[in-house]
Amino acid sequence: MSEPLFSKRGGYRKLDTFMLATLIYYATVAFCRKHITSSRQQEQMTQAGRSGRQNIAEGSERSSTSTETEIKLTDVARASLVELMLDYEDFINLGGHHPWRDDAPESVAIRSLHLKRLDATEHVAHEFSKVAAENRALFAPWLESDDPLVVANALVRLCNRADWLLRKQLDALGERFLDQGGMREKMTRVRLEARDAETPKCPKCGKPMRLRTVKKGPTTGEQFWGCTGFTAGCHSTLPLNKKGDSNRIENNLSSRIESNRQDSIRIDNV
Ligand SMILES: [Zn+2]
Repeated sequence: MSEPLFSKRGGYRKLDTFMLATLIYYATVAFCRKHITSSRQQEQMTQAGRSGRQNIAEGSERSSTSTETEIKLTDVARASLVELMLDYEDFINLGGHHPWRDDAPESVAIRSLHLKRLDATEHVAHEFSKVAAENRALFAPWLESDDPLVVANALVRLCNRADWLLRKQLDALGERFLDQGGMREKMTRVRLEARDAETPKCPKCGKPMRLRTVKKGPTTGEQFWGCTGFTAGCHSTLPLNKKGDSNRIENNLSSRIESNRQDSIRIDNV
């Protein structure tokens, strides 16, 4: 059974990292409106939060075509959220305070909350928004506190958690890349599979045949099928079909790529 050229796309709305980045982004928009006076800083923090969220989604969307791109975008997301975490730390430090310790009761409470996950396959934007609201309610005691220090500290913890989860996601992607290679390797595998499926077997010894070209004589340059058992002494050959079998191989490959593409479009529309 041959592998599909395009694997199924990500389903980013089901990722904990995307859910977490959504909470962080929305809380950051609210925090900046309330507590950050410099419009430049508002913009920088909001952008960092947005970049974290969007790059997780975009990376996951690109997973079907390029593990390399998925890794790059996921790492951009991670870097953006770390940048935002430092902005919140600065806010706390510049106000003359210290960020919570890892073992502070609030840190532990925030860390031990489990995110609810989307499990819908229909109306996903609507359902995701509902699950995100439920998750926001979980963190409301901190994120909706009137004390900006509590909100900033809670966001440091959430950015930290997102960073940790994204690192795990990157490790897994790195392993998949080492194991299966990138898109180029995959295209070569699919091409070889398609070629083998179309290649005739030797009528004498059963080995696959390969396209060969006549090197001399009146038919120089013409192609024929020759047995790959040539070195083992089988000199069996077959004529090439009139329109050229190699065209048929290319057409078959193109139609497989197209049907894989259609599959991946159908998956997206679910
Ligand atoms: Zn043979």
